[in-house]
Amino acid sequence: MNEDYYDLLGVSRDASTEEIKKAYRKLARSLHPDVNPDPEAAEKFKKVSQAYETLAHADKRRQYDMGGGPGMGGFPGGFPGGGAGFDFNDIFDMFAGAAGMRGGRGQGPVPRQRRGSDVLRRVGIELRDVVFGTEKEIRFRTAGRCERCAGSCCEPGTSPTRCTACGGSGHVQRVAQSLLGQMVTMAPCPTCEGHGDVIESPCTACSGHGRVTTERDVTVRIPSGVENGTRIQLRGEGEVGEAGGPAGDLFVELSVAEHDTFVRDGEDLVTTVEVPMTSAALGATVPLETFDGVQELDIRPGAQPGEEITLKGLGVTPLRRERRGDIRVVLDVDIPTSLTDEERDLLEQFARIRGDEATRRNGQGPFAKLRERLRDL
Ligand SMILES: [Zn+2]
Ligand SMILES: [Zn+2]
Repeated sequence: MNEDYYDLLGVSRDASTEEIKKAYRKLARSLHPDVNPDPEAAEKFKKVSQAYETLAHADKRRQYDMGGGPGMGGFPGGFPGGGAGFDFNDIFDMFAGAAGMRGGRGQGPVPRQRRGSDVLRRVGIELRDVVFGTEKEIRFRTAGRCERCAGSCCEPGTSPTRCTACGGSGHVQRVAQSLLGQMVTMAPCPTCEGHGDVIESPCTACSGHGRVTTERDVTVRIPSGVENGTRIQLRGEGEVGEAGGPAGDLFVELSVAEHDTFVRDGEDLVTTVEVPMTSAALGATVPLETFDGVQELDIRPGAQPGEEITLKGLGVTPLRRERRGDIRVVLDVDIPTSLTDEERDLLEQFARIRGDEATRRNGQGPFAKLRERLRDL
């Protein structure tokens, strides 16, 4: 493994940089993988390139001569296709055209089939759907399989014929004159676009693509507890691929409409109910329309503004869970903004009986509590 870099390049230990460069070019000409398909040559080319990369740089060469081992910045695998920053770019430039072909070399023709794209559709749902889950039928236009050719791209009764230009390999050899002399590289066959075969009678329904634009209906099951913006993935319900390739996925993005009464808070539904001050003082039963029908809301005598009443188990079932959350009702007490003469008389009478005063000098009035609270802060 640890062959001497000078031996690899076939130069003496006191060779000049110019001599090293010349020796490397000569070796590259016979070893480069685009010229020499032998895997052993490829292996040797890697080593030679590494040797060159070290010896062509004065500081790396000095380090190597001092026994520091291979210079840094070698090729830790693969061939130096990028080559940026190396001063032997000139050599690799000649391979640049061929470099792109390496992936395709030896792999045969490129298949026509391609996976279809994913499709994203937005669907609006109601808060009720979040509470109970639902199913939605959605209709959208997308690429579907061509029925006439069943995705084969050929007119019924015909089939692709082997490309005569490349003999079915999908690649053609290209000869170019270069610094190193004549270079033979591989390129995709322009006649069959690398597929190796040619469709002489393309399907008339899909123009030889194997797919056509269709209208599709899909039923989406929406579980309870989803959020606004949740995406549901339906595998294989997206665009059908070209030439009968696999279909992409359908993503359904949910948009939850605002509800008139309830706001979602995790697994709970929250709302406010406004009751007259007399109901708050005397207690009352108020009907509340929920997703489970009308419920009776019991307001205790003496209920305070901001007080919460809980209706157990009438909220949202969180995703992948069984138990439902609650409905939380926040009480708002309505204080009349205008009074008739009779109402005022009655309220004044009420205040007199209770001994209510707007402010009490002894500190016991309705503001005393507030003053205490402020002191505590
Ligand atoms: Zn067709
Ligand atoms: Zn061809």
